[in-house]
Amino acid sequence: MGQATLTIDLDAIGANWRALDRMSAQGTQTAGVVKADGYGLSAPKVARALAEAGARRFFVALAQEGAAVRLALGPGPQINVLSGHMDGDASLIRDLDLTPMINSIDQLTRHLDALPDHAFGVQLDTGMSRLGMSLAEWDAVREIVLAASPELLMSHLACADEPNHTMNAAQLALFHHMTDGTQVPRSLAATGGIMLGQDYHFDLTRPGIGLYGGTPFDRATRVVSLSLPVIQTRVIDAGDVVGYGGSYQAAGPTKVATLLAGYADGLLRAMSNQAVLWHKDHPCPLIGRVSMDLITVDISSLEDEPTTLDLLNPWQNIDDLAAMANTIGYEILTSLGSRYRKLYLGAGSR
Ligand SMILES: *Cc1c(COP(=O)(O)O)cnc(C)c1O
Repeated sequence: MGQATLTIDLDAIGANWRALDRMSAQGTQTAGVVKADGYGLSAPKVARALAEAGARRFFVALAQEGAAVRLALGPGPQINVLSGHMDGDASLIRDLDLTPMINSIDQLTRHLDALPDHAFGVQLDTGMSRLGMSLAEWDAVREIVLAASPELLMSHLACADEPNHTMNAAQLALFHHMTDGTQVPRSLAATGGIMLGQDYHFDLTRPGIGLYGGTPFDRATRVVSLSLPVIQTRVIDAGDVVGYGGSYQAAGPTKVATLLAGYADGLLRAMSNQAVLWHKDHPCPLIGRVSMDLITVDISSLEDEPTTLDLLNPWQNIDDLAAMANTIGYEILTSLGSRYRKLYLGAGSR
């Protein structure tokens, strides 16, 4: 096989959704976040796997992403658009029955003018200063919004992956202050918020990364594996250098394998001289810089000639790899580019 293969286990995504659903408080619904094309793994396929596991609500970042999910799922499930109601999106929102999460007074006006009878929710800013209405904006339009019967009031936690961060309790308190007594369903927790406990769960949780096997859902089932083909091998001598800039210099005779994948495939350049690849359970260090289409790996310690090496496998998950590139699992997943052959395992792959 001349092409790198990203294997995606859709049954594992379903199992992670069910596990996160069981962790949520009684009566709390569990949605599935499939923005950025399902964290890079294909939103239509992931959404179908989640629907098969029991999910009935989905979150995307843009209306166009919502359209792709609607086409995959058909009518019925609710699809919420986190960027809200953007200029020019009214017909997409109406025709594909998307639910915009309104972020500002401008968006509220746009939505009520264009689609006065169409479902919407409201996103509130409880301290992250990114999306949603501030307390002052909310106070100004709260009665108008409540009279228009929103489907959901939500906010997002800035520091949920740090359980002891004081910001969590502060955001929770402000969310209560802004929404108590409204009788509207509420949502505050993404994956990290689910881990913080049932005080954070409200009526709906919105896990993303946990579905795909990432921290802070540390008991997640592994979803992705990535195997890269070896093009050629050579033995170099002490003092020889490897790759652009000669940033790696061999201390002794070294067997180097050149693999067909590089930063154009989402292998971040920050992995240069840092990441580790695997031959079964045997680690082999990436040496030299990551090139556009190639990486070089020290396989001196292997007895056999591998035809592929693994970057994601049972011994190295997206968070392990992220740590080697000084980033987070989210960026690893969404970087794994469209150039790979994707192999889907499980029920939803049909
Ligand atoms: C991305 C996102 C989520 C999902 O977050 P995870 O940390 O991946 O679980 C939930 N809500 C909002 C508003 C988001 O932007």
